[in-house]
Amino acid sequence: MTKRIIDIQNISRCFQVGKTEINAVKNISFNVNKNEYVALMGASGSGKSTLMNMLGCLDSPTSGKYFLNSKDVGALEDNKLAEIRNKEIGFIFQTFNLLPRSTALENVMLPLIYAGVARNEREAKSINMLKSVGLADRIHHKPNELSGGQRQRVAIARALINKPSIILADEPTGNLDSETSNDIMNLFSNIHQEGNTIIIVTHEAEIANRAKRIIRLKDGEIESDKINK
Ligand code: ADP
Ligand code: MG
Repeated sequence: MTKRIIDIQNISRCFQVGKTEINAVKNISFNVNKNEYVALMGASGSGKSTLMNMLGCLDSPTSGKYFLNSKDVGALEDNKLAEIRNKEIGFIFQTFNLLPRSTALENVMLPLIYAGVARNEREAKSINMLKSVGLADRIHHKPNELSGGQRQRVAIARALINKPSIILADEPTGNLDSETSNDIMNLFSNIHQEGNTIIIVTHEAEIANRAKRIIRLKDGEIESDKINK
């Protein structure tokens, strides 16, 4: 049976800036099932990051419902939201967001510290994960000793380490050259084939084409939602 991971119903996010209200996401509804690979597209300012932040439990909708694994997470308090986030969500950002003074291994181990995993197990799991993203020989390097593509691999390993329900990537190849982008997108395809559920934000058609479903946003609303043949 297909498992529903994300179920959002009429969610909106309104920002108050001085006297103006910005409706960044307007009344959006959709579902994502386990092992889907979705690209979220749309022009700059169309609400992609705002939507992703809510899907990733970094932000809450102003109105509407969000069920993550059938659990109502739309109205949780911050500490509860943080707990769910650490357990259920793997984030990958355009700017990698690694801890600069920590090694690749330490960066990948961090979510396991929050999850309360014992030191030996943390280290063994993280080393394996770094190997699986092709960084066996870069485990003790710090971010500034790694290339952009290698940094993003560390971020991907970190995102996967807790076996999250969903992987959210916001423009993950935005800071990479086209060859490195292609390598990273191949890695995403492998991760998808292993059974993971992925939502990736991009404004590049070539990147979106790697996904199996493409949702387009326009002015905070869904313009189209199509299976990618
Ligand atoms: P995208 O990621 O598609 O470029 P965003 O979700 O970042 O779009 O932004 C959607 C709209 O919401 C934009 O008009 C942006 O200026 C506005 N916005 C986003 N975040 C905030 C915020 N924290 N405060 C006020 N306005 C915001
Ligand atoms: Mg954005």
